[in-house]
Amino acid sequence: MNFTQGNKVVLVGTGAVGSSYAYALLNQGICDELVLVDLNEEKAKGDVMDLDHGVVYAPGEMAIKFGTYEDCKDAALVVICAGAPQKPGETRLDLVSKNVKIFESIVGSIMKTGFNGIFLVATNPVDILAYATWKISGLPKERVIGSGTVLDSARFRSALGKEFDTAPASVHGYIIGEHGDSQLPVWSSASIAGTPVAPLLTEERKEEMAVAVRDAAYDIINAKGATYYGIASGLARITKAILRNENVILPVGALLEGENGHSDVYIGIPSVINRGGVKRVVELDLNESEREKLARSVQTLKDIQGAIWQESNV
Ligand code: NAD
Repeated sequence: MNFTQGNKVVLVGTGAVGSSYAYALLNQGICDELVLVDLNEEKAKGDVMDLDHGVVYAPGEMAIKFGTYEDCKDAALVVICAGAPQKPGETRLDLVSKNVKIFESIVGSIMKTGFNGIFLVATNPVDILAYATWKISGLPKERVIGSGTVLDSARFRSALGKEFDTAPASVHGYIIGEHGDSQLPVWSSASIAGTPVAPLLTEERKEEMAVAVRDAAYDIINAKGATYYGIASGLARITKAILRNENVILPVGALLEGENGHSDVYIGIPSVINRGGVKRVVELDLNESEREKLARSVQTLKDIQGAIWQESNV
């Protein structure tokens, strides 16, 4: 393989999401070496000390240290959870422009070190920023992954698990599309033990569940200001799938190049994940209404991409 092997992970952005992800990596013993980078050096250094005291009770050894972008030069995986929060009065598009500019600086600095591994992006709007990371880095599309709808799909499976009194791990179902308001549940293939669940639910109930999944982030943010444990578990799951070459299917943010009828967009879509990153995007057997909703979600992202890339040189 002509890219960096091993399992050194560099985490850029140790806020609520980043530090929860680091904690998940530690508790599941997913990597041997973890480097924390943040603009707020003191916070990152504090996290390093705190996490280091957890190694004693972790499944195995893990070298955790504070670092800089220079540490990316021999990293297998760089995970980006850094970003500016939305300020009062700021539009969504303003925030997108601001975060794309931050990514030009972060990803540009990382590539200057000679980084030749895999990027995993969680910062919102994640689909746009995964696309930006791919464009800025010049890395093959397989090695730039967004968290996509990994969290939304977890919320969907959790809701179905409760509905049918079954462990969510035994529920198969995906949310696809934008990690945002235009996402959609793929009811046509949602199943438990091979039995489709859609015929067991009324249209009203399905709509209620889809809205609850879509709006879960707003509910959590209203309750405690931010969401971080769910996405941290999802990021740890993607990390494990990559570093352990699992060939498992996860709904990550992947670049479409004709799959499912769309191109030139990063979007949440079930994909086979292994040590090379995105091995393959799955072609879904969607019904007509799902195809229409996916097309609308793609268009939503492309409208933002169009607005951003008109004013940026990326
Ligand atoms: P946070 O404000 O707690 O943390 C952001 C961190 O980024 C801070 O520590 C800040 O110092 C750091 N940072 C900012 N600019 C930086 C730079 N240029 N270089 C290095 N570090 C920098 O925010 P959070 O709650 O941890 O959320 C982080 C991101 O994750 C947000 O964009 C949020 O919307 C997103 N998020 C994504 C999902 C998902 O499903 N993908 C879910 C929840 C949150």
